[in-house]
Amino acid sequence: MRDKNACPVCGANIGIVAVFKAPLPNRIFCPHCGARLRYRNSWWLVLPVIAVMLASAATAPGTAQLLGVNGAGAALVLLGHLLAAGGACEVAFVLLLWYGSFKLEPVNPRPPVWHDADDF
Ligand SMILES: [Zn+2]
Repeated sequence: MRDKNACPVCGANIGIVAVFKAPLPNRIFCPHCGARLRYRNSWWLVLPVIAVMLASAATAPGTAQLLGVNGAGAALVLLGHLLAAGGACEVAFVLLLWYGSFKLEPVNPRPPVWHDADDF
């Protein structure tokens, strides 16, 4: 069986770090050949991440009130909420992509080679 986390261009395993470094599931770069890759049908994973980030931002004022801080303190609480939610989403979705049933595919497949270039 083909390694599902192998680069479809060069065949080497891309390694989970390459997936961690990607800001979006369609901006993964093979560390071996540099090909831009994506996990097929994974675009919708961005939607729950946006929902979690919005929920995190919406609950930050409540946390700030509980902690009795306002102004710059409340801004730090918001930043902490967003960093915690973003980090949790990153870990959850990298593991989902890596161990789930998503398949890697090249974003920009190589164009066909034209053998009749001299015919112009
Ligand atoms: Zn590759």
